[in-house]
Amino acid sequence: MSSVLCQHGVVGIGAASIRTLRAALGQDLGEDVGATRVQEMGFAAGAEVYQSFCAWLPSHADLRDPADLSADALPEVLSAFFGALGWGTVSTERVGERGLVVASPDWAESAPGTSGEGPACVFSTGLLASFFTSLAHGSALAAMEIECRAQGDARCRFLIGSPATLAAVYDAASRGADYRTALGA
Ligand SMILES: [Zn+2]
Repeated sequence: MSSVLCQHGVVGIGAASIRTLRAALGQDLGEDVGATRVQEMGFAAGAEVYQSFCAWLPSHADLRDPADLSADALPEVLSAFFGALGWGTVSTERVGERGLVVASPDWAESAPGTSGEGPACVFSTGLLASFFTSLAHGSALAAMEIECRAQGDARCRFLIGSPATLAAVYDAASRGADYRTALGA
């Protein structure tokens, strides 16, 4: 890992500590409130991780400002950055006009097959929402995990979009409709 990543409050901790905290808060506060607290931690972390991304970017892509990143270059840059931080092997793809999917077959927050009750990577949804909001110059973006290794899926997949878009996706999914239609796909 390049030492430039360990700036702006970003520190290295073990992924198991996040899972342990999630389990402990779930026991103490109830599953939903515990998950919300861990998501808030992730959201706070995302802003610091973004600052570290800005510091790292010139060494990788010879760019000073993330605003200069082209849409074509973004997947490779994000893969290199999150991979160097230890989050996993990351790919990104656009889905329709309004969605971006971040996917990983070895995402650090999830322990495969440990949850039968839906996606488990709540710290990551906070982190990615905050990171991508910063990347979008403060336009609010939210993150929803739509597949998760913890519930037996092959990958963790996070859908990034505006809060209104993700609300429409949630609504479509709860009606049994294809969520991609809500993304303009
Ligand atoms: Zn997951």
